[in-house]
Amino acid sequence: MPKYVYRFCEGDKDQKDLLGGKGANLAEMTKLGLPVPPGFTVTTDACRAYLRDGEVPDELAVQVTRALREVEEELGRQLGDPDDPLLVSVRSGAKFSMPGMMETVLNIGLNDSSVEGLAKVSGDSRFAWDSYRRLIQMFGKTVLDVDGDLFSSALDTKKSDRGVTMDYELSVGALQELVSEFKEIVRKETGTAFPQDPREQLDLATEAVFRSWNTERAHIYRRREKIPHDLGTAVNVCTMVFGNMGETSGTGVCFTRDPSTGRAGVYGDYLVNAQGEDVVAGIRNTLSLADLEELDKVSYDELRAAMRRLETHYRDLCDIEFTIERGKLWLLQTRVGKRTAGAAFRVATQLVDERMITIDEALTRVTGEQLTQLMFPQFATGAERDLLTRAMPASPGAAVGKIAFNNEEAQAMAEAGISCILVRRETNPDDLPGMVAAAGVLTARGGKTSHAAVVARGMGKTCVCGAESLDVDAASKTLRVRGHDGVFTSQDTIAIDGTTGEVFLGDVAVVDSPVMTYIHSGLEKALEAAPDEDTRELVLAVDRLMQHADSVRRLSVRANADTPEDARNAVARGAQGVGLCRTEHMFLGERRQFVQDLILASTDEERVAALAALLPLQKGDFIEMMETMDSKPMTVRLIDPPLHEFLPDLTELSVKVAVDKANGVLDPADEELLHVVRAHHEANPMLGLRGVRLLLTMPGLIELQVRAIAEAAVERLRVGGNPRPEIMIPLVGSVRELQIARDRAQKVLDEVSEESGMDLSFPIGAMIELPRAALTSEHIASEADFFSFGTNDLTQTTWGFSRDDVEGSFFGHYTDEGIFGVSPFETLDRDGVGQMVRIGAEGARATKPGIKLGVCGEHGGDPDSIQFFHSVGLNYVSCSPYRVPVARLEAGRAVILDEVQDEAQATA
Ligand code: ADP
Ligand code: MG
Ligand code: MG
Repeated sequence: MPKYVYRFCEGDKDQKDLLGGKGANLAEMTKLGLPVPPGFTVTTDACRAYLRDGEVPDELAVQVTRALREVEEELGRQLGDPDDPLLVSVRSGAKFSMPGMMETVLNIGLNDSSVEGLAKVSGDSRFAWDSYRRLIQMFGKTVLDVDGDLFSSALDTKKSDRGVTMDYELSVGALQELVSEFKEIVRKETGTAFPQDPREQLDLATEAVFRSWNTERAHIYRRREKIPHDLGTAVNVCTMVFGNMGETSGTGVCFTRDPSTGRAGVYGDYLVNAQGEDVVAGIRNTLSLADLEELDKVSYDELRAAMRRLETHYRDLCDIEFTIERGKLWLLQTRVGKRTAGAAFRVATQLVDERMITIDEALTRVTGEQLTQLMFPQFATGAERDLLTRAMPASPGAAVGKIAFNNEEAQAMAEAGISCILVRRETNPDDLPGMVAAAGVLTARGGKTSHAAVVARGMGKTCVCGAESLDVDAASKTLRVRGHDGVFTSQDTIAIDGTTGEVFLGDVAVVDSPVMTYIHSGLEKALEAAPDEDTRELVLAVDRLMQHADSVRRLSVRANADTPEDARNAVARGAQGVGLCRTEHMFLGERRQFVQDLILASTDEERVAALAALLPLQKGDFIEMMETMDSKPMTVRLIDPPLHEFLPDLTELSVKVAVDKANGVLDPADEELLHVVRAHHEANPMLGLRGVRLLLTMPGLIELQVRAIAEAAVERLRVGGNPRPEIMIPLVGSVRELQIARDRAQKVLDEVSEESGMDLSFPIGAMIELPRAALTSEHIASEADFFSFGTNDLTQTTWGFSRDDVEGSFFGHYTDEGIFGVSPFETLDRDGVGQMVRIGAEGARATKPGIKLGVCGEHGGDPDSIQFFHSVGLNYVSCSPYRVPVARLEAGRAVILDEVQDEAQATA
């Protein structure tokens, strides 16, 4: 019989797969002897079984009974006992933390009689009845699916009837009335009474947590965070402790370092006389940890000791949920805390300086994704700005957009390509779709630990929260700002600065971030430009980790650059070469005419003339590129796209010819062109006459391109340059294709070499982007000096779909159905396309052990894919110039992560 239930004292932090993150960490804290209320965890296995079979496994009930009895014995109380009830919370907790995704139900075990017992034992009827109404409210909403607004409006009505503004001002009588009203709501909405049996409450809540794994919100979050949909969640059943037992009680959240800036030193929010999510919901304003020290020194000291203990134990920034019940501290949750990108870099290097981790480990604590975020632009400080208000900077970045008051508006604007800022009084999990769609989030209530702040940070989305001078009226879709005239609507543009907390009216210009300045102009310049100590520390941290990544990485990083400007940008960002210089643009624009002439040529003379016209132009392009990339390798891909891209559109031309003919003004040249266009028309150009196929069938094309490269190189050599072109043949499928192309290219190189007396021994290689090429790589390698995996096309050809046709149509459906976790064009599909790369690489090395292997295509800049390319042992990745720093960092991380994995395998 599988073990579905683990007491907190049985597990540990390494069992996240089975116990979920929350459960594993509750177990770990219990093991460390920290004050955790007793409880147990129902495993993700049980959840998966439930999701598979549609019902809870039989053995589960039995195991829950046993674990519950043990907790009851330990505490000397029984669940829902009428005289002295044990109450529990039922909390979800998946392997990866999903803030606000899964619902938690508190105060399970209360019913019409145990509420009296709780009142008596606690000596506080108000507290007991308040807890009961919270249970019915939370249970009704999350377990029974009753519309939560029904409860909250009943609560609001009650408050206004009684002339009070705060929940805690309601009298016992009022709360008792509310409980009756809430029960009535449940009866009316569900057709059955609120369950009075404590165990039934527990079982129903557990099942509801299982079910909540599949809510839309959960799906959206997982898709965004690339969390697989089949993990399932664990359920934690935890003895209730009460922060709402009066002035000596309270509840809070704290961080061992500031998760927003990364500044060293503890950070936290505390709310007196409150329970559960009151802090996170930002309903009232919170106190700081320093305030707590004044209020309750003993609990504060104990908390600080626990924080230090946890940070040392986890060797990382931890966040902690705690509750103080009548002066006694309880820890309810901890985890390695989410943080902003900037905080990640700063905390990682702080921990190195504090000798808590090594510099290698520090590299595993930051990601390419985070580096990307730090490169986002910021608002220009000099720009004219109309400051509306200033509030809590919760998640950095600069966002400008129209005001969106709800999900629908935000999603509609996003779809229409209009940038928007989601403006809410406060957010809750229902606002997630709007947060995803918006460029930034602005709330009127709540602190750095509010839902809006936590979720936005997790998404890397700009967020300003707790802007109390805002009066957000979601119903009428208007925004007023205290001290400011006027009413703002969805027509108005605002700008929010998640680093300073400022909110501006209208458009504000944006500039480079400090990290971007560092990447462009180097450490010294970036430090000079840094406005404050925080920025200096951040730039230094990034520099240190980038340098370390560069020193350990095995993969070189090149860039895909077609123009000298792109190439310069890439080199400035640390590119060690160009991995893909496309030559299509050399045939476009005004030059298109020459290509048309070439295609239309009916005699050798005409063809030679067209080629001769193109040669100096292409040569000029190459000279400039070679100058920019002097001494660095530069892979030039010969022309790849199908011919029709250079010819007029078939339909348009047909219409023109028909119309002209009818009007008697037909130009015979047009008619002939139409004839040619028709002849070259393909049903599926992506799989038609292109790449090497075109090069082999169109006389003179290879010769033209190779001559342009060779003559450009000669010019560079003559002025003392060091050109290093590598000639790449696209879309090779058979060794014979490559052989013919290669011979023709080599012949031109030899000719130009002869003419100039210069040594032009440039490598000639193949782009591997067809399954056949990968599968026959052993043969193809015999004719290639290098391989470059074109993983975009390789993905298309391996899957048999064209990106343009599929991404917009059924990919959403496919990710929803879990057919891919993430688009295979974004992250390399390791099992399929990756396998092609692996086979291709192994085959090539079998033939030529030293052959240079690289990858070009967007995957070369994708963190996860880079890890894979490293593990396959490629020599370089090539990505867009903008992603070069990310690729450098990820290539360094890959080395360390590999070692960590090897060690884990060695000890397993
Ligand atoms: P989340 O995953 O959203 O953080 P939690 O399970 O941690 O959800 O619970 C939500 C809130 O309820 C938190 O503030 C938590 O501290 C509080 N809470 C959960 N269990 C208990 C308990 N046994 N006693 C008191 N408060 C609890
Ligand atoms: Mg929590
Ligand atoms: Mg291609």
